[in-house]
Amino acid sequence: MLKGKIALVTGAGRGIGRAVALALGKQGAFVVVNYNGSEEKAKETLSLVKEAGGDGAVYGCNVADFAACGEMAAALVKEYGHIDILVNNAGITRDNLLMKMSEEDFDQVMDVNLKGCFNTMRHFSRQFLKQRGGKIINISSVSGVIGNAGQANYCASKAGLIGLTKSVARELGSRGITVNAVAPGFIETEMTAGLPEGVKEALMGQTILKRAGRAEEVAQAVAFLASEGADYITGQVISVDGGMAV
Ligand code: NAP
Repeated sequence: MLKGKIALVTGAGRGIGRAVALALGKQGAFVVVNYNGSEEKAKETLSLVKEAGGDGAVYGCNVADFAACGEMAAALVKEYGHIDILVNNAGITRDNLLMKMSEEDFDQVMDVNLKGCFNTMRHFSRQFLKQRGGKIINISSVSGVIGNAGQANYCASKAGLIGLTKSVARELGSRGITVNAVAPGFIETEMTAGLPEGVKEALMGQTILKRAGRAEEVAQAVAFLASEGADYITGQVISVDGGMAV
């Protein structure tokens, strides 16, 4: 159980982030639902957390903005006194083949997916170190492990997250802070809803289980890594991909 724990989930207005917020809330954590543009969706997530018997708050912040992440860390620590769980889930895609990919699309994806994670870890780690404890879970992707044509920017950002996770795990571990990554495969969310049916079929065909995953199935792995049961797990990448990258 996560009673008394304060958790921040970035990009939790929908999809995997919402499912993670709900899973942590159901286990008793006070969940701060972060959003960038979608305040109403974040409020909806918070309502669902409350309906499920949990509690929390919403906080707007663009994770790609280093200074804004610093302000968010300071505000949450001031408000709640401590922070125990940080889930870096916010992510975007700007897919294109390398030869057609704009510099802007490369930079935007790196800024949100990779630098966004650096930004929050950089600012929240001060409090984690002070507390001598905390759980950081970064949402990477199977694409960061095996690559994917048409997603060079996204795959680079998600592979980068794995290196970032392992390095920070090595830096913070002696203070009782664990840092892990979860690498989802093909999960049904708004991010993947627009893919052509043929591509979806092909992705499902690559899994051992022959189906897409659900956001809740990713959230279960995150909730485990956030729990005491995972106290001796750090620097790991846990795949939740139906056996896509075996
Ligand atoms: P999604 O439905 O598109 O949701 C993405 C969330 O990220 C939204 O709530 C969005 O909120 C937020 N976000 C985007 N930019 C942000 C920013 N700059 N600052 C703060 N929040 C921001 O995506 P999803 O499928 O749930 O994916 C969640 C994570 O899992 C992502 O990191 C994604 O790369 C990863 N993942 C997904 C899959 C999949 O198959 N779906 C597979 C592997 C990994 P706003 O609208 O407020 O900006």
